[in-house]
Amino acid sequence: MSTQQQPVTVIGLGPMGRAMVSTLLGRGHEVTVWNRTASRADALVAGGAVLAPDPAAALTAHELVVLSLTDYEAMYRVLEPVSGSLAGRVIVNLSSDTPEKTREGARWIAGHGGVMIAGGLTVPPSGIGKPESSAFYSGPREEFEKHRPVLEALTRTDFRGEDPGLAALMYQIGMGMFWTSMLSFWQAVALAGAHGLKAADILPHASETMSVMPGFLGFYAERIDAGDHAGDVDRLAMGTASAEHVLHTMADAGLDTTLPETVTALFRRGMAAGHGGDSFSSLVELLRKAEPGR
Ligand code: NDP
Repeated sequence: MSTQQQPVTVIGLGPMGRAMVSTLLGRGHEVTVWNRTASRADALVAGGAVLAPDPAAALTAHELVVLSLTDYEAMYRVLEPVSGSLAGRVIVNLSSDTPEKTREGARWIAGHGGVMIAGGLTVPPSGIGKPESSAFYSGPREEFEKHRPVLEALTRTDFRGEDPGLAALMYQIGMGMFWTSMLSFWQAVALAGAHGLKAADILPHASETMSVMPGFLGFYAERIDAGDHAGDVDRLAMGTASAEHVLHTMADAGLDTTLPETVTALFRRGMAAGHGGDSFSSLVELLRKAEPGR
C-alpha cells in the first residue's frame, strides 16, 4: 500500500458515499468520514476509515473533501453551521441538483474561502472503482487537475469546463433521458401484463427497440443542428396517428394513460402549430420554450 496517496474526507455515507470510501480505502487513501447517521460509518471504520466527531472536524481533517449528499439543501444543512471551516478546502460536490443550484453552491463556498468542483456520477454505487465508469466534472480547472488522480480512483473523469453548472447540466441531461426511457419500459411491461405476458417475455423486443436508438439520435442530431426538419423520412402527421394508436392501445387495456397522453398532446400541439408535413423532430422547436399558459 502506498503511503503517498492523498488523504480525503468524505461527507455523506449513503450507498454512493460508502462505495466511494471503500474504493478509496482499497486504493490506500487515508479517509476521514462524517455522516448525519453515524452508524452508517461502522463497516467503513472497521475497514480503516476515521470517523470525525462532527462536520467541522471532517472539514479540517484534509484539504480535499468529497460530498455525497442527497442534494444541495443537505449540503447547507451540514456545512452552514460550520462554514467558518471551509476556508482553504477543495469541496468536490458529487451531490446532484440543478445547474443553477450547483452554481449558487459554488458561489456560497467561494464566499467562505473554499473552492468547489461540481461532479455528476453517471453510474450506480456498484460502478464506483470500475474502469468503464465515468463522471462529469466542472469548476476551477487548476484545482481539478490537482485532484484528478484521487477522483480517477472513483471513475474516469470528463471535465466539461470552468462553469460549475456544466457537470450538473450533463448529469441532468442523462437523467432526463434515463427516467423517460425507463418509464417507457414500465409502460410496456404494464401493457404486456394486461395481455398475460411477463416482463421477461418482452425483454428481447424491448432491448432491441432501445438498441437502435443511437442510430436515430445520430441521424436527427445532425439535421436538428442544421435547422432541418424536412418531412422526407417521416412526417409529424404520421407520428401523431401512431402516438394515438399507442394511447388507444393503453386505454383499451385499462392502463394508466398519463405517459401516452402527454406524448400524444405534444404531437397534437405540433400539428396545431402547422408542422404536420415536417419531421417529428420539429417537436424540438415546441420544447425549446415553456408551453404557453404554464
Ligand atoms: P442518499 O440520498 O441515499 O444519501 C445521501 C446522504 O445524504 C446520506 O448520507 C444522508 O444522511 C445525507 N443527507 C440527506 N439529507 C440530509 C440532511 N438534511 N442533513 C444531513 N445529511 C443528509 O444518496 P446516495 O448515496 O444514493 O447518492 C448520493 C448522491 O449521488 C445523490 O445526489 C444522488 O443523486 C447521486 N447519485 C446516486 C446514484 C445512485 O445510484 N445511488 C447514481 C448517481 C448519482 P443519512 O445517512 O443520515 O440519511
